[in-house]
This record gives sequence, structure tokens and C-alpha cells, in this order.
Amino acid sequence: MLKFNYHNHSTYCDGKSSLEEMTLSAIEKGLSYYGFSAHSPVPFDNDFALQYSELQNYLDQTRRLKTKYQDKIKLFTSMEFDYIPKLSEDIRERAEEYNLDYIISSVHLVNSENGLWFIDGSKQESYDKGLREYFGGDIRKAVKAFYDQTNEMITKVKPNIVGHFDKVKMHNKDRYFKEDETWYRDLVIQTIDLMKEEDLICEVNARGLYKGRSNDYFPQTSWVKELAKRNVKVTISSDSHKADEVDMLFADCWDHLKACGHKEVWYFDDQWKPISL
Ligand SMILES: [Zn+2]
Ligand SMILES: [Zn+2]
Repeated sequence: MLKFNYHNHSTYCDGKSSLEEMTLSAIEKGLSYYGFSAHSPVPFDNDFALQYSELQNYLDQTRRLKTKYQDKIKLFTSMEFDYIPKLSEDIRERAEEYNLDYIISSVHLVNSENGLWFIDGSKQESYDKGLREYFGGDIRKAVKAFYDQTNEMITKVKPNIVGHFDKVKMHNKDRYFKEDETWYRDLVIQTIDLMKEEDLICEVNARGLYKGRSNDYFPQTSWVKELAKRNVKVTISSDSHKADEVDMLFADCWDHLKACGHKEVWYFDDQWKPISL
């Protein structure tokens, strides 16, 4: 089985292991391709993203490791760009300036008139608080804002990989809505159709599952099946933040994609290619 993972963090952002520790673990676990994807710098104080002051070091260090370990693994330099309307920089422009190998883009912070709703992280309380304060507790309005922002990201940024596109459900846990409600399904299908239209790769992200924050992948099984029906390209990510997470659930996810009707999975080797499952 060819192993790869293009969505990984390190101590340059909110990860716990250094770039080199991540690399050594990827080699040990038999990955052929591995991409560094720090959370891109964002124009406000934070403790999760790459800082502007460390940006050049990050780019230099990833490329130093690429050369150092070139006989053992093929490394790539990328970022997971946060798409926040009006706040984000021009992502395609930045990616070109930094000479990145590919682009991942995701929504973690949903824009509202009153502030940014953080839908990720380990704390359900901050999800609930944001929902109350920024959307008056109106879950439909909040979830629609998340998918509108995701759709805008898909059409404007056209990232190579769309990150965990249904993560808005992580802290919901069936409390505010059920994922088979028509209004929710319609929003998801619209986003899936857009990814197809733009010919982007949708990641199937194992992080929520192995961290015990979710009982399914992002996106959940029913959407992975819808992706297969529409022939949307998919890749496998562990979204690792620690060295031992670099291939977490890779083989399970491979089988899962097959069981959901996918015939191939996409990987990057200087260009994106499919491989049969
Ligand atoms: Zn993310
Ligand atoms: Zn990530």
C-alpha cells in the first residue's frame, strides 16, 4: 500500500513535534510522500498559526529536510490556509510567493457581523458560546454561514485540497441538529457539487476520529459515499500534530474509501495522480 499524508502540523504552529521529528516518524512508518502544512499566518494575535516572524524559517527548514532526507522520503512544503472573508490575505498570491508545492484551505473561523466563531479545537464550550454570541443561538444561520464561507473558499481560492469540509458538526454532537435533516443535507450537497465543478480534491480527515472528538471521519460516511457517486477526487489525511500521528488510521481510511464506493485515491508526486484502491 502506497502511504502518503499531505496535511500535517508541527511546533511551527499548534503541533507538538518538530518538523524533523515528524519527518523521522513518517520515514519509520513507511510513508513515501509527506507534506508540511502549517496553519498559515493570520493577521491577528493567536497561538495556533505560524507567526509572520517565523515564516521564512519554516520555509527554509522544510526545504532543508527535503534535501537531507531525499533518499528516504519525498517531502513537500505547503500550508493549511484559513479562509476568512475580508481578513485572509490573497491565498493564491501568498502560495506563489512562498513557492508552495500545493495548497490546503479550510474554514476554522466563521465570519459574522459580531465576531469570529471558532468551530474547531477541543472545547465544546467555545463552540456553544460563539453560536450564542455571534448568531443569537440560531444554528441554521450559523451552519449556513460556515458553508457559505466554505463555498466562497472553493470558488475563489480553488485550493488543491479542501480541508475537513463538514467540521462544523464536530461539536454539535446531535445537540442542535441532526445531520440527516434536509436543510443540512442540502447545504452539504451544494458544497460537494462545487468541489466537483472546480475539480478539487476533498480530504478525508481522520483526526476527529483518533482524537475521540468525533465518531466518524471528516467528512462523515454518508458524504464520503456522495463524493463517490459524483466521482469527486479524494485524498487521505491524518492532520497530525504529533510524530506518532503521521499515519494514524491510514489503512482504515483506505478500506473505508473502498467500502464507500471510491475506486481511486489521489496523491501528490510533483503533480496530483490517482492510484487504485
Ligand atoms: Zn484544519
Ligand atoms: Zn490541520
